[in-house]
Amino acid sequence: MVLTVIEDFNGARDDSSPQRRLAEVRERAQGFRQRMLELAPVTYMRSFKLVRVPYPTRYAFRDAFSLPTPYLHIVNRLFVVQFSTTEGVKTLLVSPSDIEGNAATPFFARIAQALPKPLQGVGQSVLAPIVATVEECLGHIGLSPADVDYVTYDHLHTQDLRKWLGTDKAPGYFPNAKLLVMRQEWESALGLLPTQADWYCPGGLDVDPERVILLDGDTMLGESVAIIHTPGHTEGNQSIVTHTDEGLFVTSENGVGPDSYAPERSQIPGLARYARTLGAEVVLNGNTLEGSVDQYISMVAEKTIAGPSKRNPDFPNVLCSSEFEAYWLFPGVSPTFGVGDVCFGRLQSRARV
Ligand SMILES: [Zn+2]
Repeated sequence: MVLTVIEDFNGARDDSSPQRRLAEVRERAQGFRQRMLELAPVTYMRSFKLVRVPYPTRYAFRDAFSLPTPYLHIVNRLFVVQFSTTEGVKTLLVSPSDIEGNAATPFFARIAQALPKPLQGVGQSVLAPIVATVEECLGHIGLSPADVDYVTYDHLHTQDLRKWLGTDKAPGYFPNAKLLVMRQEWESALGLLPTQADWYCPGGLDVDPERVILLDGDTMLGESVAIIHTPGHTEGNQSIVTHTDEGLFVTSENGVGPDSYAPERSQIPGLARYARTLGAEVVLNGNTLEGSVDQYISMVAEKTIAGPSKRNPDFPNVLCSSEFEAYWLFPGVSPTFGVGDVCFGRLQSRARV
């Protein structure tokens, strides 16, 4: 069995009181964390940086950020994960972004014109420098495209899946991979309102339906990876939890970095004061704000599952798929802490066996 539906969070958000919902989800997250830590870790996990893109600070930190700097830089990451199952070791790619295809997302397509005058026309290599493509990352570690069993994303903003999973005209780069996605995210993406559509790549999900596995609830992959429905950033948002030698990593885009999950300890201008003034435990990443109450609860769940980082216990072990980093073009915004790159275990490649 590779995929198992789990019920740890079932009904945890049923109460009409947001405070009671938060308390219930927090308690369930503590229980889930303990349960998952008793199971086996992944056999391999490695992160890669793909591309850095400008993102408005008013979305990244909402009202908490106190400087006028209009943009920051977020880094889109790829995670290669392998885990044991009763059917052998499986390979999962988390957030493989098709940098070229994703550029057609309406928000991205407009961003060059939306930038302040001095930044217009500086070119992609300065504004959104590519660090590496997915193909280069896999080539670097010797993983063949046929080795990939699953791909998943914490949500489908900006993603163009056609290159990876194929269309009715072309087979796709990963011949055996299936997409794991919450049914709500998939169905949202097929019926978007205008404010949502700005962030989804037109036609990007036109892939062979046989390649898509819709998840109807929280799901374990083997016993080392979990996909948990964490609505907020989008209605169908999910967090990917990986059990490693460094504890549980939680990947999502409900927040843009560890600062967002521990704002009281953040040195980013405005965040600690915001946390103190409101008594807020998290700062939401809000471009479309599909569900801010749910997002708050989801972020508390994510940081509770993650627990403290072993690299800096002041911050939770969250490994955001799009994490903000300091960049010379956008002064005044630099993270207090970032997990950085991760690499655990030994890769198994069928091509090499
Ligand atoms: Zn998003």
